[in-house]
Order: sequence, then C-alpha cells, then structure tokens
Amino acid sequence: MNFDTIAAISTPMGEGAIAIVRLSGDEAVQIADRVFRSPSGKRLAEEQSHTIHYGHLIDPAKNETIEEVMVSLMKAPKTFTREDVVEVNCHGGLVAVNRVLALLLKEGARLAEPGEFTKRAFLNGRIDLSQSEAVMDLIRAKTDRAMNVALGQMEGKLSKLVGELRQALIETLAQVEVNIDYPEYDDVEEMTVPLMIKKCTWVRDEIDKLLKTSAQGKILREGLSTVIIGRPNVGKSSLLNSLVQENKAIVTDIAGTTRDIIEEYVNVRGVPLRLVDTAGIRETEDIVERIGVERSRQVLKEADLILLVLNNAEVLSEEDKRLFEAVEGMDTIVVVNKTDLPAKIDLSEVTELAGDSDIVTTSLLEEEGVTELEEAIANLFFTGTIESEDMTYVSNARHIALLHKARNIIEDALAAAEAGVPVDMIQIDVTRSWEVLGEIVGDTVQEGLINQLFSQFCLGK
Ligand code: GDP
Ligand code: ZN
Repeated sequence: MNFDTIAAISTPMGEGAIAIVRLSGDEAVQIADRVFRSPSGKRLAEEQSHTIHYGHLIDPAKNETIEEVMVSLMKAPKTFTREDVVEVNCHGGLVAVNRVLALLLKEGARLAEPGEFTKRAFLNGRIDLSQSEAVMDLIRAKTDRAMNVALGQMEGKLSKLVGELRQALIETLAQVEVNIDYPEYDDVEEMTVPLMIKKCTWVRDEIDKLLKTSAQGKILREGLSTVIIGRPNVGKSSLLNSLVQENKAIVTDIAGTTRDIIEEYVNVRGVPLRLVDTAGIRETEDIVERIGVERSRQVLKEADLILLVLNNAEVLSEEDKRLFEAVEGMDTIVVVNKTDLPAKIDLSEVTELAGDSDIVTTSLLEEEGVTELEEAIANLFFTGTIESEDMTYVSNARHIALLHKARNIIEDALAAAEAGVPVDMIQIDVTRSWEVLGEIVGDTVQEGLINQLFSQFCLGK
C-alpha cells in the first residue's frame, strides 16, 4: 500500500535523557537524508538497512546545525509498519525534540495521528486487529500479569483461537454446501445436522470459556477499584498504608492523555488494586451513617472489591451490622483487625454476617495477617485454572461484545437445528457468526471502526 510519510515523537514527553522521533513511509529515508550529515560524508540513503549512524541534523535552508543525533535506518519490509522507518535518537529535552520534529515536518513528513504507526502495521498486514489493540494494552499494562496477557495477545493467541473457531464454522458450512449440491442423497442431511450441532456446540463452549476470563481480563487491564470501609478507628488508614508499603505503588500516567489522569495502583500478586479517589470513597468512614444504607449501596456498587474492616477488640455494633447490609452481594473481604488486643468481637456472629465472604484476621500494628489478606484478594480473582499464565484472556471490551454477539447467534442456530429447521436456513446464522468472529481479528470490519480504534492509541505509537 502507498501512504505518505508520517512523523511523531515516539518516546514519552518530558525530560528523558534521550528521545526518539520516528518516521515511517516511502519518503522516510529521503527526508532523513536531506537533513542528516555524517562525519564521513556518506549519505543515509546509501547505507544498509538495519544500521545505526552517528551525525548531525542540519536545517538545509539556513545551513544551521540543529542537533547531534543517532539515526537508525530500517528499510521495508522488515519493520514495525512494513514501510521504510527512520528513527532519530536525540537529546530528551522538549525543545530539542520539537526542533527535530519540526525540521522533519518542514522537509515533507506529516505529523502522525495517534496510533497511526500501529494502524499502518495493521493495514500493511503485519499484525491483525486484536494484536494492534494489544499494543495499546501493553502501553497501559499495570502489572506483570497484565503485561503477559497483552503480550500473549500480541503474539496472536486470541487471533489463533478465533481462527480455529471460524475454521470449525466454515467446515459446517462446507458440509451444508454438499447437502445443497446433492439433495438426492437423503443421508447427507442426516449427517449434516448432527455434525452442525456438534461443531456449533464446541464453538459455543469455547466462546463461553473465553468469556469467563473476561472479568479477570478487564481487571488486569483496568485494575480493581477498591474501597475500604469500616467504623472510625478500626484501622482503615493503617490497612491502606500497609497495602501501599508492602506492594510497590504504581503511579500511572495513562498513555495518550499525558498528565491529566493520575491513578494510584497497588500490585497485589498480579492483581492491580486501583485506589482511585474519585467519589471520595477510597477510605470511607461512617458512610452508612452519613448517607443511609440504600444510598451507600449505590456508591459502593461501583467498586469491584470491598474491604470491610472490623475491630477485634470491640463487640459488633449496630453500625458494623449496617455495613454488612450495605455490602451484601458484593465482592467483600471482611478484615477483623487488632488481633493483638484481647478479643471482644463474637467471631461466630461475624461468620454468620459474612456469609460467603472471606474473613481474614490481622494485626496491622504488628504487621500480621497482611499476607493472608493478599492471598484472599488474589484467590477471589484468580481461581482454579485462571491461575495459568498460559490462558488466553479476553480483556478488551470490543472483543467481549463481539464474542457475546457470536455466541448468541450460534445459540440461535443450535436451537433451530434441534427444532428441525432446514439446514440451509441455519446456514445463515452460522455464516453470520463466522463474520462476527472475523471482526475480532479485523477481517470484516469497516473503515470507520478502524479509524476510531486507532485514534485511541497514544501519539507516536
Ligand atoms: P481508621 O480510622 O479506621 O482509618 O483507623 P486508623 O488506621 O487510623 O487506626 C486507628 C488507630 O488504631 C491508630 O492509633 C492505629 O495505630 C491503631 N491500630 C491500627 N491497627 C491496629 C492493630 O492491629 N492493633 C492495634 N492495637 N492498634 C491498631
Ligand atoms: Zn482513617
């Protein structure tokens, strides 16, 4: 394909030691060549692909030196975009980088739109859509585990699985064709329907397995919004502090939005806890007292995880009981704190109120029980087979929506097949679900969607 040459700063903005300005497109090498001077006088265009060169950038109009640089030359097709790519490594200061970028734009490059490099990699067939989306996830990955999920997706795990599902659907369609072409063989129809049911059932079950991972996938990507509640003085602040201290707090500057959204993450065994201070509910004292059970339920519902803290050294109060009422049905871990003090709380009553929720006892003062609490958090979100790093997770909202859609269509096809609907009618549903699955990898997506997707990327990627 033929595209113009684009340029962007591809390292985070700020005062880093070095910064990279990336060029991609048919003219990338010529544009760089016009402004680059090496000490040996050799032209960039004559150099071998995949080599790095030291020299200076000059503004040809004024014959003035702009920057001291290292230039990497990567000719198509073995590049990220499959186009000619030139990367200019320069000093990291904002002024220097912007001067380099401005010079390249003056020489004929166009400023890249957000995500345009990745979009080209997609359009030029180097990666498929789910892999492109993984690039974005990778940029935003909060924990090692999230990183692995994104990496797996980038390696094409999801694409491969979706490919297998589509293959199974195609096979049933092929079988239907045989059926239509040779209607005189009655037994073909007899064979076709059971086969169709078998394959469609398999596809549906595989989609179900994938969808089951979606909750975990979303959490890995976005973090688990966590609220600590409890009466005054039970140890909420102490709990918050010990979670932050024991686990490296990750302060994320979400890619693409530069500096305006800063969130704090705590990585608990691969589960990113998002301690967002939006509604002021990060640590909530007497919330129920203040706004009532119903209203606090509304507020708390937005959280993925609630840590309900109780005081071991006091009997359960009415307020404690109201808290249990407020969190009913939510993912809650009950923390009975201050176990270093003589117990006054009735643990069997706590157990009864807690229902299915885990109960962990801690002495935050003596730093006891925090490990157990972390285990409980991790277990809540990574149970059984999900633990395996090898799983294919879906975490992307678009993928999840498409999987649901494909699943529902297949379910219709199955119901129709069981009801004895003629096989060529069922074929329509099967074809449709094949198309819907194709949208995950970008086989059947429209241009508008592609533009929208790539515009979410950050600049320079
Ligand atoms: P919050 O009001 O719920 O945020 O409670 P804080 O975390 O501010 O703690 C209230 C008081 O209890 C502070 O003086 C803490 O030092 C103390 N505290 C917290 N955890 C423990 C514990 O496990 N044992 C004891 N004995 N005191 C604790
Ligand atoms: Zn507090």
